[in-house]
This record gives sequence, structure tokens and C-alpha cells, in this order.
Amino acid sequence: MSELGFSTRAVHAGYEPDPQTGAVNVPIYASSTFAQDGVGGMRGGYEYARTGNPTRTALEANLAALELGDYGRAFASGMAATDCALRALLRPGDHLVIPDDAYGGTFRLIDKVFSQWGIEHSPAHIADLDAVRAAIRPNTKLIWIETPTNPLLSIGDISALAEIAHEAGAKLVVDNTFATPYLQQPLTLGADIVLHSTTKYLGGHSDVVGGALITNDAELDKAFGFLQNGAGAVPGPFDAYLTMRGIKTLAVRMERHCDNAQVIAEFLEGHPAISEVIYPGLPSHPGYEVAQKQMRRGGGMISVRLAGGREAALKFCSRTEIFTLAESLGGVESLIEHPGAMTHASTEGSELEVPADLVRLSVGIEDIADLLADVEQALI
Ligand code: PLP
Repeated sequence: MSELGFSTRAVHAGYEPDPQTGAVNVPIYASSTFAQDGVGGMRGGYEYARTGNPTRTALEANLAALELGDYGRAFASGMAATDCALRALLRPGDHLVIPDDAYGGTFRLIDKVFSQWGIEHSPAHIADLDAVRAAIRPNTKLIWIETPTNPLLSIGDISALAEIAHEAGAKLVVDNTFATPYLQQPLTLGADIVLHSTTKYLGGHSDVVGGALITNDAELDKAFGFLQNGAGAVPGPFDAYLTMRGIKTLAVRMERHCDNAQVIAEFLEGHPAISEVIYPGLPSHPGYEVAQKQMRRGGGMISVRLAGGREAALKFCSRTEIFTLAESLGGVESLIEHPGAMTHASTEGSELEVPADLVRLSVGIEDIADLLADVEQALI
């Protein structure tokens, strides 16, 4: 499958029409257990649905094919995938480097939970390779990045960061949720593990929560599989089916997300109410060159800072009509949010605290004229 184009893999990888019925879509195997022919005599390789379910297997094979990886694992949420990766890769006394503007939930899990088990972390600006090098300690086992980051859309140079990690004897995890495998494939750039909140662009319709880990390393995949079964944070078959259904249109959706976001970012850049537009597809973005090198296009996420400060930011969020005020991102519908009070509230008072004048837009696939008019009227 890896020699086929992205859209072909997205539509076909992981499932072939059922030989018995010809069903072109993967069935939702609503079965928690599987009959055995004699003790231990599994008919189709399945025994119990926490360990494996055919609908989930199809999704996992599809996810691996999208990222050009050898192994994929699906989880009940992006945070369940994060938790699994951290537990598989770290032991008490280990240290990891995280983005200084990581997703709030990732930071909360590392800062509030893993710290209790003797895991240390240091935030670093992942766009600054020297800052990342300086954050490395003798016990660093992991560099954990998002690129673009959530919510400040910083761009980390994946191949350079992989080199830095490997020189230090550490692994590189890339949370590829914002870029999606359509725009960037971190394993091909040297990353060891790719993580997704499939809740976002992969599912694509704001109707399912899920997560994924993809790697080329058989030992790591084995460790992920052990924890996936041992801890049990797996998606049900209906969730696996919905995610796979979303993935089939990922390429066409991403093109439209990128088209719309580029136009809105350019419009906002000239707007007097906006003091800064952060969008990797704009030459004014400090990570533009690296983004051009490793991403197909700029993506569907835009962050802006309001000239009028926090009050103006809150007002902007409450005045849009098509952009719905809500957490999350990556669905077909446009969303707007205030990270400081919503998705990133857990970073308050920490080194990762986000600016109070920041607003994050998840640009959907609606008609661009309507989206532009909505943003324009909300900023008056
Ligand atoms: N990683 C990133 C970049 C995210 O934005 C999110 C959620 O917003 C997660 C991970 C966690 O994913 P989930 O909400 O599916 O648990």
C-alpha cells in the first residue's frame, strides 16, 4: 500500500471488500468476545475485544498506511494514546522535553500525573533548536513535540529535532494532530512515534473521540500493544468505524481547510483589530521556511492576538455566528475559542500560560465568502 498515493491509501488501506458479502465498508463488529474451536483455537485471530476487534484492526492498518508507518494502534482518545506512549517510553527518574506551548491536556497529564511517578519535564521553545539542546539532561529519554503547536502554531524542524533526540539517546514523539498525515509525515523525517488525537481532522466531523500511535519500531509497537490491552483504553467498534469513515475524505477536506484558512489569515493580517496573525502559511510566520520544507500547506488552524487585549478577544469569540464558540478543532464546521479560558486553562500560572489576548480559529470547509463576512462583522 505504501507505494500508492495518499488519497488511495486513505480510502482503501486496512480493509478489502468482505469475501462473503462483498460489503465495501468495514463492518461494525459489535462483539466483545469471539468463539473458539477448542480451548485457545481462535478462528480469525480474535478472542476478546479489548485485545482486538476486526473494526479496530482495519482502522489501525489504515492509520499506519496514512503515516507510512509499519504499525498503528488506536485508542479511546488522544489523551489515552498520550498516556500509553508516556508509560511505554518513560520510567521513574527519566526526563522529557515538551513544547513551551503544548496542548493543555498533554501538559496537565505530564505536570500533574507523571510528575507523581518521578518523571521530570522541561518546557522548551521547539522552534529554537538551541533551546531544545539546552533543555536536554543526562536522563532525557524523550523529546515530545507538536508541530504546529497548540495553540501558538510554532513550527519545529522535525528532521533536526530527530537528530538532536537520537544524539542524546532519546526518542522523538511528534503529535501530528494539527498537521495531519496529509500535510506532513513525521516518520519519514526521522521521528520515532507519531501521535494523533483522531478526534480532530482524521475523524473530521466532530462526532467521535479517539487517538492513535504509529511507529516503525516493532519493540515499541509491542509495548504499546501490551499497554493497550493491559490498561484497556481502546475505542469501541462504532468509534473505529466512524473514524475510518472520516479518514476517507481527509485529503479533500484538508485542501479546503487550507484554502479557507489561507484567505482568512491574509484578511486578518491587514485588520486593525488584530495585532498579530499566527499562521504557518504566511511568510510573516517565523517558522514559514521550515513549514514550507516539511508541510504540504499551512493547515486549517489560525491563532490571532487582539489589539484590544483580553476583553476584545472574548468579544470576538462571542460575536461570530458561523464560527461556533467551542473547544476542539479539525471538524468540517468552523470553531472559535479563547485558549486561555478554555482548552489551555490548565496552563494558568505555569511557564506554558498562553496570552490572554489570544483567539484560536479552526477554519472549516464552509463557503469562504460566508466565513470572511462572519469574521469581519465580529471584529467591528
Ligand atoms: N494533542 C493535541 C494537539 C490536541 O489538540 C488534543 C486535544 O485537543 C489532544 C492531543 C488530546 O486529544 P483528545 O481530546 O482526543 O483526548
